[in-house]
Amino acid sequence: MKLFGIIGNPVKHSLSPVMQNEAFKYLNIDACYLKFKVEEAKLGYAILGAESLGFSGLNVTVPHKEKALKYVEPDELAGEIGTVNTIYFKRGVKGFNTDAMGAKMALEGVTDIKGKRILIFGAGGASKAISYELSRYSEVLIANRTFSKGLKLANKIGGEAIRLDDIFREIKSVDILINATTVGLNEDRSLIYSKNLHKDMVVFDIVYSPLKTCLLKEAEKAGAKTIDGLKMLVHQGAASFEIWTGVKAPVKVMERAVRHAVERG
Ligand code: NAP
Repeated sequence: MKLFGIIGNPVKHSLSPVMQNEAFKYLNIDACYLKFKVEEAKLGYAILGAESLGFSGLNVTVPHKEKALKYVEPDELAGEIGTVNTIYFKRGVKGFNTDAMGAKMALEGVTDIKGKRILIFGAGGASKAISYELSRYSEVLIANRTFSKGLKLANKIGGEAIRLDDIFREIKSVDILINATTVGLNEDRSLIYSKNLHKDMVVFDIVYSPLKTCLLKEAEKAGAKTIDGLKMLVHQGAASFEIWTGVKAPVKVMERAVRHAVERG
């Protein structure tokens, strides 16, 4: 049996085991995916220990995505973004970032992303991956609470940084709005409300707890198309699955499994 797992802290509420185990079962792959709470000081032991124990792969989640870089050979994308969310133990310890691909696939399910004007809230780990990927196809604006961090990221990706106070002026010309902050996570609050949104835009909230965040409710009120955070979660998980197995991931099966798990609570 092949062994996989997710390491993070906290990790109790991770939906990755449900999603990955369902995919293995559906494709008759003899594998098991578990979750492990790992303290920051023990991160190196956990990664190298998993390799010694014969694990095939790991996912890495908050708060270890940046520090994990130290223990892997990153591919070009992960090295460029500076964060790792997928490790594959094959002829060494290889590191990847599938968050970028997850967000792109989630968006492409409802809209073309080429040549668009995209406003991204946040400049943390998730925003770094998403903005790096999307800036290859579109014009990206970064609005972050700490302006200096937003500016640093915008400069790195060839985008533009704006202050959070200025989003109301810019929003009229935005095609796609992405929330990549923690605002809305287990709270009924948003950085922008329906009166400032418009029906010709796509609004994507990568936060998935709750599934329908305050921002998505406001976007619906404005008549905008919406995408929830589970879409990105599923697509980043599918990309990890494909790195590990070389087999096309059963995306619909994985999505059904996580949506059931969320509904069950
Ligand atoms: P992170 O690195 O800690 O970054 C947090 C970001 O949120 C920073 O830009 C921070 O701004 C901003 N922020 C925090 N509190 C704020 C406030 N009160 N007002 C305005 N901005 C605020 O976190 P992350 O790893 O990027 O994750 C962000 C969210 O995305 C989390 O909720 C996470 O669960 C979710 N996520 C979802 C997926 C998925 O697959 N759907 C994948 C990854 C992450 P400052 O720079 O000013 O602190």
